[in-house]
Amino acid sequence: MIEMQDVYKKYPNGVTALNGINVRINQGEFVYIVGPSGAGKSTFIKLIYREEVPTSGTILMNGVNLAKLRPKKVPHYRRNIGVVFQDYKLLPTLTVYENVAFALEVIEAQPKYIKKRVMEVLDLVGLKHKARMLPNELSGGEQQRISIARSIVNSPKVVIADEPTGNLDPETTWEIMKIFEEINNRGTTLVMATHNRDIVNTLKRRVIAIESGKIVRDEQRGEYGYEN
Ligand code: ADP
Ligand code: ADP
Repeated sequence: MIEMQDVYKKYPNGVTALNGINVRINQGEFVYIVGPSGAGKSTFIKLIYREEVPTSGTILMNGVNLAKLRPKKVPHYRRNIGVVFQDYKLLPTLTVYENVAFALEVIEAQPKYIKKRVMEVLDLVGLKHKARMLPNELSGGEQQRISIARSIVNSPKVVIADEPTGNLDPETTWEIMKIFEEINNRGTTLVMATHNRDIVNTLKRRVIAIESGKIVRDEQRGEYGYEN
C-alpha cells in the first residue's frame, strides 16, 4: 500500500535527510522505523502523511503519487491517515470528546454517527469515562490514548506514529503498545518510528533501520540493533 521508489529529501538548508529510499509496506503490516538521531526517521514519516514532499522520487500510497499530489488535495488525503505524535498535539481548549470528534465534524458526518463512533474509539482506548475532561486534566499516557483515538476515528487504513511513547514511562508505554497492537490486529497498517529498544525486541515485528538517510536493514521480526 505504501511504496517509495528512489526517494531523496534535501531540505532547503542543504541537509540531505533521505538518500535513495526504496521500500514497500503492505496493507496490515506493523513496521518499526529505527535508527540514530538525525538518521531521517521523522522525515520518512513526514513524507508518508505529506507534511513534506520528496526532492525526487516517487511515493505511492494506494497508487496515488504523493510527490505529485496537489496542495489542494492534501487535507483530503490526510483524512485517510491517522497520525500520532510524541507530544500528542491535542487541542487544549477542546474536551477529550471534542478533540476526537473534530475529524468527523470536518467531514460533516452525521451527528448521530459522530457520537456513536467517538464513544466507540474512546472505549477502545479505555477513556470513555473521561470524555468531558480537558487534555491538561489528563496524564501523559491518557493524552496519548486520546490522540490515538483521534487518529483512528476516521477508520484510516494506515496509522503513522513518530516516537509515540517518547514521553511516557515504561508501564504506560506498554499500555499504549497494547492499543497499537489491537489497532493493527484489526487490519490497520502501522508505521512507527521509535527509540524504544525494549518494545522492538519484545514485540517482534518488521524492523526498517535508517542511517544517514539510507535503509541499512529491513527484517521481518527484526531487532532494535542499537545500544539505545
Ligand atoms: P530522525 O527523525 O531520525 O532524528 P530527521 O528526519 O528528523 O531524523 O532528520 C534528518 C536530518 O534532516 C537531520 O540532519 C536533521 O537535522 C535534518 N532536518 C530535519 N528536518 C529539517 C528541516 N525542516 N529543515 C532542515 N533540516 C532538517
Ligand atoms: P494544520 O493545517 O496546522 O496542519 P490540521 O488541520 O492538519 O492542522 O490538524 C489539526 C490538528 O489535528 C493538529 O494538531 C494535527 O497534528 C492533528 N492531525 C491532523 N491530521 C491528523 C490525523 N490524520 N490524525 C491525527 N491527528 C491529526
